[in-house]
Amino acid sequence: MKKWFLLLSVVLTLALLLPAHPRAVAAVEPTVSVVPDKTVTLTFDDGPDPRFTPQILDMLKKRHLQATFFVVGRNALEHPDLVRRIARDGHTIANHTLTHPHLETLKPTQVNAELQGGDAALTAVVGPSFAVPHFFRPPRGNVSPAILTTTEQLNKQLILWNVCVENHTTTTPQQVEQRVMSLIHERHGGILLAHDGELDRTLTVQSLPRILDDLQREGFHIVPLQTYLDAQQQSMGQHAL
Ligand SMILES: [Zn+2]
Repeated sequence: MKKWFLLLSVVLTLALLLPAHPRAVAAVEPTVSVVPDKTVTLTFDDGPDPRFTPQILDMLKKRHLQATFFVVGRNALEHPDLVRRIARDGHTIANHTLTHPHLETLKPTQVNAELQGGDAALTAVVGPSFAVPHFFRPPRGNVSPAILTTTEQLNKQLILWNVCVENHTTTTPQQVEQRVMSLIHERHGGILLAHDGELDRTLTVQSLPRILDDLQREGFHIVPLQTYLDAQQQSMGQHAL
């Protein structure tokens, strides 16, 4: 336990010394209303976890798909090899805080430490030349004034989601597939959220191949997050016209 606190304080101190990411990207209000047609992007939260992350990486590799992993800094420090594999496989690695707290209950200084600590953990694991992407997903998708302000101060872009794979009403891979596909159809695509860590994600690992097969069979484009956001910008421009 002592060792863990020592590690945490080192990371937090390091975080406070690091400059904010130089790329200026305005934080956006969370919006799920405009989604590019027939386009989906895959995001995974709460890993890395040796029980599930490797299986998901294998699945994505087999299908030549790129995803975004919103990694918890604490888990990254525990499983650095997995984080490096995510990077090596060409996926985007982004910040999901250092310890996955109830961020919306924390003060601005604590929120700041969680965000900077998350970035510092990723840099410590992947290497000093690794530019942590500006994407940030708050735990459980909860936001507060302190989270919005800190996100903006650190030039982070808040990324939420449209469809979550996990839901307490679905308990078999078939049910998960059916629910997720029907939501994707209803919303014409979107940012898909699945989890690869913290809890037992066996059902997610079992359901994902079915969902990915459906999406590919139905002609959905499964694109990286930045490509999705660019397409979203275009859709918003068209809406404005
Ligand atoms: Zn989470």
